[in-house]
Amino acid sequence: MSEAIREGGCGCGAVRYRVSAAPIFVNNCHCRQCQQQTGGTSVVNAFVEAEHVELLQGDLAEHTVLTGSGGPHVICRCAACGSALWSFYPRLGRLGLGFRVATLDDPGSVKPNAVIFASEAMPWVAHPEDIPVFERSYAFKDVLAPEAIARMHALMERKSAGRRSPHREPLQPSRKSAV
Ligand SMILES: [Zn+2]
Ligand SMILES: [Zn+2]
Repeated sequence: MSEAIREGGCGCGAVRYRVSAAPIFVNNCHCRQCQQQTGGTSVVNAFVEAEHVELLQGDLAEHTVLTGSGGPHVICRCAACGSALWSFYPRLGRLGLGFRVATLDDPGSVKPNAVIFASEAMPWVAHPEDIPVFERSYAFKDVLAPEAIARMHALMERKSAGRRSPHREPLQPSRKSAV
């Protein structure tokens, strides 16, 4: 298996997925919303083009919450056990997603590019010394390699052009939450 191909799944085993590209970027977010939504100290999200994520088995349920800026943040969870697997955010629509690194079979294989919203972290949380730590967010150019920035810009251009992904859409849930 190539280093860029990773597989993961939910807590009950019903959902399995495969990611076939290296993440564009990875954030370890300590914001209050991530704390509340996960029940943990923070979350690690890896962002990738949606066409590189394939649902291998299981059903997803979507839960829509609001981002800090008020847009819809769609959390896709295992319909059976509720484990959160990935999210769609307003900036990229359905073209890109952030998957929960902790649901990978080998979560240690992905290292965050940045620790963000350190200002909202629980006070006893220690941050890594070898990963940039930001009080809130950061500018891509300050952290990411040019190729990663180019991938993000390509996604944002596709979003603004309103074009749908040319690929099939395996990420559609079989049923929706009532939210
Ligand atoms: Zn499950
Ligand atoms: Zn967050």
